[in-house]
Amino acid sequence: MYDIIVVGAGTAGLSAAVYGARAGKRVLVLEQKNAGGQIVNSPEIDNYPGIKHISGFEFIQGLQEQAEEAGAQIRYAPAEAIRCEGEKKLVRCGAEELSCDSIILATGMVYRKLGLDQEEQLTGKGVSYCAVCDGAFFRGKDTAVVGGGNTALEDALYLSEVCRKVWLIHRRDRFRGENAMVNKLLQLKNVEFVLDSVVTELRGKEQLSGIIVKNRILGIVSELSVSGVFVAVGQMPENERFRDVVELDSNGYIKADESCHTSVPGIYAAGDCRTKQVHQLVTAAADGAVAALAACGQTE
Ligand code: NAP
Repeated sequence: MYDIIVVGAGTAGLSAAVYGARAGKRVLVLEQKNAGGQIVNSPEIDNYPGIKHISGFEFIQGLQEQAEEAGAQIRYAPAEAIRCEGEKKLVRCGAEELSCDSIILATGMVYRKLGLDQEEQLTGKGVSYCAVCDGAFFRGKDTAVVGGGNTALEDALYLSEVCRKVWLIHRRDRFRGENAMVNKLLQLKNVEFVLDSVVTELRGKEQLSGIIVKNRILGIVSELSVSGVFVAVGQMPENERFRDVVELDSNGYIKADESCHTSVPGIYAAGDCRTKQVHQLVTAAADGAVAALAACGQTE
């Protein structure tokens, strides 16, 4: 029996655990993979107020320690389903059903795919969604990054230090990510922009051998011989297993406003998994605090 069960040990979930445990609540955090969520793969965070530079890994390590030192427990198991029984909330976790007063859903997001044939088969065999995790496998080789947001720009920058050549393929001629990073990339001799273009095919059977790229304006199709392609086209929520319990919006995000209250009393949503305008580390941490304080009955 817990006071609060937090689903997801990313920034929002661990921040909720810090606030819940410090308020004297019995807090359990369920995490189906590794603690940290998406930020753990960020090589450098330099926009978190009060911290000038820190890696995603160090940031999460500190946050996890802070949550555990405050008294929160972390269990590496998935929350498979949730249901309500009167005021009680029940979370199915393997053979067990865990009981609590409040649930904080902080499930974050998963990588969006390109939706190409072979994408799944070639994942881990040349196709990757994480430059920091897999970049070293492509040392001295030619690679491509797909996407135009900050993740793609950051990935291209990181890979430029490891790879011989990096093609940055974006479907428009303007980047969504920050100009400062675009300018940095423009200075690099081994990074080449391929704009207004999309990847239409992944080549190779056992291992990626190249990609087919099509210019959307001119219709020109070309093949790039790359050993690796890093897909950085954003993320999407993964809340389907909770659809029967809390309301989701048309994009699959849990309907909750800045107060983090969902359609069900006692169930809160924090961080990237909820409907929100700004997906930043600082807003995820803020959501964790707001949701935990609401679960502790310390907000209106
Ligand atoms: P994002 O900002 O949503 O960008 C996704 C990019 O992928 C966009 O450029 C989009 O193109 C493109 N895209 C989407 N679907 C595509 C498809 N099917 N085929 C080809 N291209 C596609 O995602 P993100 O870069 O992962 O960033 C997510 C959030 O984290 C953002 O708020 C970002 O600022 C933040 N972030 C911050 C930092 C930092 O501050 N250091 C680092 C990483 C991420 P369009 O532009 O045409 O839509």
